Amino acid sequence: MTQLMKALVARDGKAVVENRPVPQAGPGEVVVRTTAASLCSADVASARGEFPTPDGTVLGHEAIGTVHEIGDGVTGFSIGQRVTAASTTPCGHCANCQRGFTGHCGGTAWGGYTSGISRDGSLAEYFTVPYASYNLAAIPDAVSDEAAVCVPDTLASGSTGPEAARIPFGGTVVVFGQGHIGLAATMAARVLGAGLVITVKARAGGEELAKRVGADHALNLTEHDIEAEIGRLTAGAGADCAVEASGVVDSFPRAVAVTREGGVVAVLSSYTGPGDAALRIPLAEWGWGVGDKTVLSTFQRCGSERMERLLRLVETGRLDPTVLLTRRYHFDDVERAFADMAARPAGHIKPLITF
Ligand SMILES: [Zn+2]
Ligand SMILES: [Zn+2]
Repeated sequence: MTQLMKALVARDGKAVVENRPVPQAGPGEVVVRTTAASLCSADVASARGEFPTPDGTVLGHEAIGTVHEIGDGVTGFSIGQRVTAASTTPCGHCANCQRGFTGHCGGTAWGGYTSGISRDGSLAEYFTVPYASYNLAAIPDAVSDEAAVCVPDTLASGSTGPEAARIPFGGTVVVFGQGHIGLAATMAARVLGAGLVITVKARAGGEELAKRVGADHALNLTEHDIEAEIGRLTAGAGADCAVEASGVVDSFPRAVAVTREGGVVAVLSSYTGPGDAALRIPLAEWGWGVGDKTVLSTFQRCGSERMERLLRLVETGRLDPTVLLTRRYHFDDVERAFADMAARPAGHIKPLITF
């Protein structure tokens, strides 16, 4: 008889719990028994049909668990071992993967992001990790489930912008947006050696959390003249790096403006809008084209080697992502957790879902 499990599924624009067969590990795959997970704004977008997620797809891409079944060709893991994988699970072999742009596996932007989009995701009692030899990472004993659950997307994605920007040791960084990705970028900037970190939000609130994860100054667009304030805080120089993690199109020209000559704007946002819409680069702040400013569009870098590095930062106490877990639920209440997430109440960053 087929063994059944509970799974949170995209159904008619909503997220509902349904019974599903427990997946079986095909060649190269590992099936994980879920012990903890989190929800993401991307799951909400998937359920609402804003991504090309087929109706009936199991949602989720932020989970950890123990190895339940190991498919042919996967070595180095044992049944019962604590493991996780990044929210993007690329093949590791195609041209983009070999070039280091694993998020764009298969030759398309976001191509490595399949969990809960084009295949069943991890908001279920069991989930499958494809290309497990490339993607699966063991969780060190000293890393708790709740800390580990923040690694697959929040830390893995949020750290990509600061890492790609090569922040100068002691340099100045401005992070736009303080959702889970922006907060993780703030953490990463600090750990990567930024000497001054300034965060920018749309509205007041959350300053304490921003400072707790590494901000020296937490600004907002409602109360502050951002360009003037950043000019003042950097003695007129501007920032060495701006990380744009707000997802708001109007933040992009601001990020360009507050970046000094020779600096880097690292975009961590995925902007929504018509395909012919454009991001604005203000000419004066661009140095009329000769400002030596670099714009990087970045998407999560992943694979087990990077996951192991991120988990090491948690293991040694350099990073404590658990401060981002603002609500806790059992998987029995996952529909309520999802509705709470979709309502975006102020101060709610990430729910922890236990199983
Ligand atoms: Zn996510
Ligand atoms: Zn690939």
